[in-house]
Amino acid sequence: MTVNRNYAPNVLMDMLHQEMPLDIGSFDLRGHDMKPALFIIDEVVGFCTPDAGNLAPVTGDPNITAIQNMVKRTDELARQFTAKGYPIWAFRDQHLPDVPEPPYPPHCIIGSGEELLVPELRWLHECDGATVVPKRCISGFVAHQNDLISWMNYQGVTHAVVTGICTDICNTDFVNPLLSARNAQMFPGLQEIVLYTEACATYNLTIDTCQAINLPDTASHPAEPMHYIGLKIMHGRGAHLADDLILA
Ligand SMILES: [Zn+2]
Repeated sequence: MTVNRNYAPNVLMDMLHQEMPLDIGSFDLRGHDMKPALFIIDEVVGFCTPDAGNLAPVTGDPNITAIQNMVKRTDELARQFTAKGYPIWAFRDQHLPDVPEPPYPPHCIIGSGEELLVPELRWLHECDGATVVPKRCISGFVAHQNDLISWMNYQGVTHAVVTGICTDICNTDFVNPLLSARNAQMFPGLQEIVLYTEACATYNLTIDTCQAINLPDTASHPAEPMHYIGLKIMHGRGAHLADDLILA
């Protein structure tokens, strides 16, 4: 079965841009009193490597390019942060075999290899400035709230720079509570939360694919509009969106 469309393929994105515009630009992190920290969300094999598991992109998916670009930009940014002595906090989604995470199928099971950082980022395990932590639920904030608050306040983080996957799921569920916690003055030094849009991506499941593999139409999750909507929601809550970070 195929979808009967009576509109151009890009009309949805055109409408989103027109009806719900975003303000994306450069963000300058060069202030003397700034201490940015980089957050990397779930750039693991099970979400990024083609055909690596139930929630990995499938060979031929055009969204693989966006995911590969995210990994490349994250690696570049992490090396810049490390060179400047700025701290990094990386989440790795991972689950026990007998503990499901509804509504998702089994993914990133410990020992499967899916839970490992993508090869490009494994150097973070040996990096003194990087903290790599497991996470067993969508929200990294929920998973590590106490440790995270202590770590950020100890580091004196003024700006949280966020990268990773998925823009509208784990990134949103990390950034929105972080914004609330900042506004509740749980981080005395935290000023701004910045999404680095070039290093964020989400998964792609078109309605055609849903129908081809007998998933309900409501499971559809086209990457480009869902990425955009994720950015819109975080932007609306007070996060900055930057496609360019000026570090020095
Ligand atoms: Zn998970």
